[in-house]
Amino acid sequence: MALKLVMLGPPGAGKGTQARTFAAAMRIPHISTGDMLREAVAAGTEIGMRAKAVMEQGKLVSDEIMVGVVRERLAKSDARSGFVLDGFPRTVPQAKALDAIVAGGDPLVVVDIAVADDELVHRLTSRRVCSQCGTNAAVPAPGEPLPVRCAVCGGALTQRADDREEVIRERLRVYARDTRPLLDYYRDLPTFRAVNGAQAPEAVARDLASAVDAAIGAGAA
Ligand code: AMP
Repeated sequence: MALKLVMLGPPGAGKGTQARTFAAAMRIPHISTGDMLREAVAAGTEIGMRAKAVMEQGKLVSDEIMVGVVRERLAKSDARSGFVLDGFPRTVPQAKALDAIVAGGDPLVVVDIAVADDELVHRLTSRRVCSQCGTNAAVPAPGEPLPVRCAVCGGALTQRADDREEVIRERLRVYARDTRPLLDYYRDLPTFRAVNGAQAPEAVARDLASAVDAAIGAGAA
C-alpha cells in the first residue's frame, strides 16, 4: 500500500525535521507547503509574490491557493507510491479538500507532534536553517550560544523571515485558531496517532515510526 502520511503539529514542533528524515527513509516525497512557498517567493513566481507578505506576517495563505498547489503536487508520478505532507492541511477546509483529492485510495495516516507553547517559542526564536542544504540546526539549550555553521554541509545558518518573536506569536495564535481544530477533525480516525514532540529528535523519530506502523495496522484492519 502507499503510505499517505499527514504530519500535524504547531510551528516549532519538529514536524519539518521529522517529516524530511522519515520520508527519506521510506523513499517517498517530503511535501512541505512552507518550503514550496519559500521557493516560490525566491523564484518570484505569481504565487510567491502573493504569498510573501502573508508569510512574513505569520498569517495563512488562502485555502484556494494552497489546495491548488497541493492538488498539482500530488498529481505528480512520484507521489503515487506515497508521500509525507508537512504543513498541509492547516485548516478544516484544506483537510476536506485533501480528503476529496485522495478519496478511493489508501487511507490517510495522521500523526500529531505535540509540544507545549513555552517550549515552541524558545525553539522558534533559536531556530537556524542552513542556507545551502536546508537542514535545521539543533536547538541549543536556553543560554547556550546559537550555532553559526551547518553541521551537515558547513553552509551558513540563517534565520527564517517569519521566526522573529512578534511573528512567532502571531503564528502560534493562527495555529490555535485555524489549525488546532484539525485535531478534532482527525481524532476519531483509526489511523490517527499523537506523538510526544518534547523529546530528543531521535526519540521522536522512533515514536513516529511506531505510530505509523500501528496506524497502518489499524487502517488495514
Ligand atoms: P511552514 O514552513 O510550514 O511553517 O510555513 C511557513 C508559512 O507558509 C506559514 O506561516 C504560512 O504563511 C504559509 N503556509 C504554509 N503552508 C500553508 C498552508 N497549508 N496553508 C496556509 N498557509 C501556509
